[in-house]
Amino acid sequence: MRTLRNYVKSLFLWELFMGLRVTGRYLFARKVTLMYPEEKTPQSPRFRGLHALRRYPNGEERCIACKLCEAVCPALAITIESEPRADGTRRTTRYDIDLFKCIFCGFCEESCPVDSIVETRIYEYHYENRGEQIIHKEQLLANGDRYEAQLAADRAQEARYR
Ligand code: SF4
Ligand code: SF4
Repeated sequence: MRTLRNYVKSLFLWELFMGLRVTGRYLFARKVTLMYPEEKTPQSPRFRGLHALRRYPNGEERCIACKLCEAVCPALAITIESEPRADGTRRTTRYDIDLFKCIFCGFCEESCPVDSIVETRIYEYHYENRGEQIIHKEQLLANGDRYEAQLAADRAQEARYR
């Protein structure tokens, strides 16, 4: 009896139609795939991407070289050196982040008392040479300058929900 049933099934391509039934069901279902990179998924304002150092509106860098971010970083990805300036304030002379070590946990951002080190929404970046994964203070400040409008808007939105 089973042999006969299998024979009839194979004669009428039963398995093929069962497979096509699944295909047909998903053909008209709501699409969940995107045509990346033309299409992007929505991002949270708290997205943790490429790092940046922010400045105050008058152009002064926010970082006061307290090294809290360096101390809290679980991956030991941040290296800071600092010295006092002529006006008595302290500023970093070196601020490096090794993005190969970084696990994008956001602890550095959370610990910063002056909202200086932040993580942008940028996730599309690459390196072409050995050592380029270590980003320096100038690059971090440039990231901050480039994305300040978005960074400020994200923080303002976050503050509204607190
Ligand atoms: S995001 Fe986390 S792992 Fe990366 S630098 Fe900041 S504290 Fe370190
Ligand atoms: S980025 Fe913030 S936490 Fe890190 S050294 Fe500068 S002021 Fe301190």
